[in-house]
Amino acid sequence: MWFDVVIAGSGFSGSLLGWILARHGRSVLIVDRQRHPRFAIGESSTPTADFLLAHLADRFGLRELAPLACWGTWKRSYPEVVCGKKRGFSYYRHQSGQLYQDSEHHEHSLLAAASSADHWSDTHWLRSSVDQHLLGCARTAGAVLREETILGECCFDRFSGLWSVQLQALAGSAAERSEIRCRWLVDATGAGQAVSQQVGNPFDDDWMRTRTAAVYGHFDGVRGFSEAASADDPFCGDDAAQHHLLDTGWCWMLRMDNGTTSVGLVEPQWLTGMGEVTNAAGSDGVVSAADYFRRTLQQYPSLAGLFSDWECRAPSAGMGFQRRLSRCRRDAVGPGWVLLPVAYGFVDPLHSSGIAHALSGVLRVAEALLQDGARCLGALHCYGQDVSQEVRWLDLLTGGCYRAMPDFRLFCGFAAWYFMAAIEFEKQLAADPGHWSRGFLQTADSELRAAAERCYLLCQNSRSDSDSQAAYARIRDELQPWNAVGLLSESLRNRLAHTAAPKYAAIAERQ
Ligand SMILES: Cc1cc2nc3c(=O)[nH]c(=O)nc-3n(C[C@H](O)[C@H](O)[C@H](O)COP(=O)(O)OP(=O)(O)OC[C@H]3O[C@@H](n4cnc5c(N)ncnc54)[C@H](O)[C@@H]3O)c2cc1C
Repeated sequence: MWFDVVIAGSGFSGSLLGWILARHGRSVLIVDRQRHPRFAIGESSTPTADFLLAHLADRFGLRELAPLACWGTWKRSYPEVVCGKKRGFSYYRHQSGQLYQDSEHHEHSLLAAASSADHWSDTHWLRSSVDQHLLGCARTAGAVLREETILGECCFDRFSGLWSVQLQALAGSAAERSEIRCRWLVDATGAGQAVSQQVGNPFDDDWMRTRTAAVYGHFDGVRGFSEAASADDPFCGDDAAQHHLLDTGWCWMLRMDNGTTSVGLVEPQWLTGMGEVTNAAGSDGVVSAADYFRRTLQQYPSLAGLFSDWECRAPSAGMGFQRRLSRCRRDAVGPGWVLLPVAYGFVDPLHSSGIAHALSGVLRVAEALLQDGARCLGALHCYGQDVSQEVRWLDLLTGGCYRAMPDFRLFCGFAAWYFMAAIEFEKQLAADPGHWSRGFLQTADSELRAAAERCYLLCQNSRSDSDSQAAYARIRDELQPWNAVGLLSESLRNRLAHTAAPKYAAIAERQ
């Protein structure tokens, strides 16, 4: 059998790319080692992601995709596809052994609104539901699916420019093998790394500053964090990517509309005790991910009180565990193959940047693969160079926050670089969603990056209060050339409101 494009991975990015290419007349095969619906982690979207989703819908004529760009239009058009309402980012600093407490000036909390009203808000994606929905759209458009199948040996003939790809079925009575031919091989397997393994594309990530480990799962009946609510909150802090900052890391909570809450604990490798965690439950002396999670959260009474039951509902085998989240491959593009952003490199969930980055890659790779010959190769070459810089920039934006994390004031200071980059990038998208002269999240703005780099050096542990105040003031000064919205302004007391309806509203509302 012959296909224009074989996509390994049927997560949302592989499915969306398959949908676009099939809608535009390309023959597409999507291969996944699992079967839908299946558990997937990574669920919090952002205004940047919504912008890109709306643009993908508009640019490639996917009218059915557009409503997913806002919570209100999503609920109206696809009530059966499970999501959650996300009005912004909320952060709370807990002290071990003590109930959570904030001050009048919100020295222990930060709320950053991303939307002006519930209708326009961003979403949390129950990935099992969303990915299955998008895969269905790809199939309706003509993409062929092979589930419970992996790539075997892949051989590229440079003269014909064609791949011979062995497919190996994992299910069924015998390990069935078949061979197909294709022009392009796309890796959308995220951490699965299917294509990199086949083409000998090694890891290149010693340079990464962010080194974190995580345990995660889905729980039922997690209570809202109502004791933190304050009269001047711009939105309910539970309708958010909720970050609980702890002494050794942080815990996320993402609440879906069906009562499921995605919960995870992330710790930098230099602080974590996760070294002792293993997935091999049952043996003596072994600490399971769930044990570690429970033990850690029980040190924080306000957090432990949110759980009526510590039993995780998904994944079915119990809480997931990743010893190191950050990773990067040497190349994003090679002869006849291309990696989507999260298959190329991933940093960390702190800024919820993964979905937006993945969507930005779907856009660029689709644009390239829909062109012929030299134009396609030129576009992919640029994509490969850009995505490599983007992972480095995301690593700086994230690594600085971990460096500052023990000091909540400094953490808020450095996190402002991410907010600034997102705000500026959304301005580019509003001006022309198809051309980003300063790159994804302002990666190509060398002055912004240099200023953030200087601030990274200021974010050290164990500072005195006066040092910390001075560093915070310096960060505010460094931000000043871009800061039209008053980030880090004392008068806002860590409460950042958002007033405008999204620029992509018109696309999302189009039925
Ligand atoms: C702990 C954690 C938390 C995160 N939180 C967030 C967040 O809140 N917000 C955010 O924006 N991003 C987050 N991310 C990032 C987010 O998970 C990714 O952006 C997203 O999963 C990328 O989607 P994808 O479709 O490219 O790949 P994936 O979702 O990883 O899908 C890959 C697919 O490939 C399949 N596959 C894997 N290996 C093979 C193989 N060898 N052969 C065939 N198929 C294979 C899998 O079965 C799967 O269906 C998080 C990531 C992690 C690790």
